[in-house]
Amino acid sequence: MAQYSYPSIEHSIDVLLETDTAQILIEDKLLVRGRDNYRFRLAPWLSIENLVLDGQEVTARRQGQWYLVELPADDQHELKFTLRGVVPARGSQQASATGVFSSSGSDGFYLPGYDAWIPWDETGRINYRLSITVPSGQRAVATGKLVSDHNSDDGYKAEFESAVESEPPSLFAGPYQVQEKRGNGLRLRTYFHEELTPLADSYLDAADGYIRRYQQTIGDYPYHDFHIISAPIPVGLGFPNLTYVGRQVIPLPFMRTRSLAHEVLHNWWGNGIAVDYENGNWAEGLTTYLADYALAADQGAEAAQSMRIKWLRDYAALPVERDQPVKAFTSKEHQASQVIGYNKVAFIFHMLKQEIGSVAFDQGLREFWEKHINATAAWRDLQAAFEDASNRDLDWFFRQWLARAGAPRLSLGAHSVTRHEAGFRTRIEILQPVTGYRFKLPLLLATVDGNQQHEITISETLTSVEFVTPAKPLYLQADPGSDIFRRLHQNEAPPILRDVTLNATSRTLVASADDLFTQTAKRLASRLMDTQPVIESLAAAQQPGHPLLLITTNDGLAEQLELLRLERPASLPRVAYSAEVWTTRRTDGAPVLVVSAANADDLESLLRPLPHYGGQSYVLFEAGRAVNRGIWPITRGALFRDLAP
Ligand SMILES: [Zn+2]
Repeated sequence: MAQYSYPSIEHSIDVLLETDTAQILIEDKLLVRGRDNYRFRLAPWLSIENLVLDGQEVTARRQGQWYLVELPADDQHELKFTLRGVVPARGSQQASATGVFSSSGSDGFYLPGYDAWIPWDETGRINYRLSITVPSGQRAVATGKLVSDHNSDDGYKAEFESAVESEPPSLFAGPYQVQEKRGNGLRLRTYFHEELTPLADSYLDAADGYIRRYQQTIGDYPYHDFHIISAPIPVGLGFPNLTYVGRQVIPLPFMRTRSLAHEVLHNWWGNGIAVDYENGNWAEGLTTYLADYALAADQGAEAAQSMRIKWLRDYAALPVERDQPVKAFTSKEHQASQVIGYNKVAFIFHMLKQEIGSVAFDQGLREFWEKHINATAAWRDLQAAFEDASNRDLDWFFRQWLARAGAPRLSLGAHSVTRHEAGFRTRIEILQPVTGYRFKLPLLLATVDGNQQHEITISETLTSVEFVTPAKPLYLQADPGSDIFRRLHQNEAPPILRDVTLNATSRTLVASADDLFTQTAKRLASRLMDTQPVIESLAAAQQPGHPLLLITTNDGLAEQLELLRLERPASLPRVAYSAEVWTTRRTDGAPVLVVSAANADDLESLLRPLPHYGGQSYVLFEAGRAVNRGIWPITRGALFRDLAP
């Protein structure tokens, strides 16, 4: 926090929350040092009932969003606030403006620190002690170390503290059942609504496992506790030493695996080291890389590549005019910023690891962690840590991937295969029309005697390469493992459901003689398509040029495919499913989405789940449950060249 010269402020906070009425009484005693005034923000739903400066009542002067209290010249002062208010009800205008809420039926209270439910100092970093009292059926929890908690007929009281500078406390309350696990020197807790308590043990074990994993790779967990708190709203939010997750989401399998790992890791990236937002947010992409992506990589190289392909595929769907430099990303406001701030940044860390090697990469992370723990850090601090660990200048790397929007485009130019005294000489041109990018490009050269892996450095718009092989070459593929962040060509971006459902020119064909099936198909089309579906006759659907949604019965599928001159992809498992959904392209490149189901019931069972799979190339269902899904691999695109004559 070098940019603020003020010593941090110590808060001593006592909160009394009446969960039935949502009334809150807050007493906050502050020790302020080395300043001639105290400037702060306060949530609009709170009023200052009383403000005492060194024993004397004073008033704070209003300056737009801010309040100001002049301080006498002495070094240290005590400011004592008494604040009162009603926590805005969920869904109210006040609640949606700030994020804070009390929930109906008192099933949850949420007071994030940034809402300024205690005076928010302009540095945004404080030390605090916080005690909170709620009625005895309720439990309250906050960020910071849990010092003690105690339940009696008078209520439940818990105390928290943060001895190191941190963001102001966030406060949560609700009719929670608390379960605890201790291990590894930490206290782990779930604060779950009653119906979720059977899941508590598995959540505590999973969180324990992730914390141990990241401790080993990065450095010590920076807090004393970790809590998983059930939220009455559909969120998944990370705070220092806790995560706040929608009660509807907690039972879903991905939550306890991928999402929990992601939130746990935010204790290092984003909380343990806070983001210097003025220079872009590095924490989401780094967390995505080391949590979501690392879990995929645990499954094997293929799963890791699938995730990279998904990122490239999502990027290919991002219109050029919505692209932005990585440094411009601060938080996820829409899908487009997720494509950059999460996916592209994660991909950049993948390429960095390829560039400097995993030993230097891991060491760089540990150095970065040690140096900036309990402070804020920017992209340049990450760069410095990796330069140090690799003993290399990486300015060119960070500059090309962070400062500019866009990505390289790659294609293959002319090639030749000629006889050579040692066998065969293969020459090929690699084209890279966007100037200023430099990267290592893996090449796969397949010959009748097996495959060869090569790696070349691309820095020019045209690179000619030459290989001499004793055996006859069969084909060459550039970037066979999808290791380079680049804009895919249309012919190598495998079709996904969204290619049809987001396109306003798509046509829909329902092929069934059964009335109920047809009605259900039309409802499904309405659910799937972004705009009102246009239902067409077979003749119209046969016209080329338009994206097509085909909905038919499993029995009628083969006939429809023949009429439309389409083929069921060979890579789809040859098993009978109750419903199958997959994409392909017409010969002219227009995407096609095929939905087939055994009967109207099985089709009906797709209504709810299917719209959630827009990013997939295929989804296979058994009794309404998705049992298999995926994205077609990038195989023979612009970077594949058949070398056989
Ligand atoms: Zn995140």
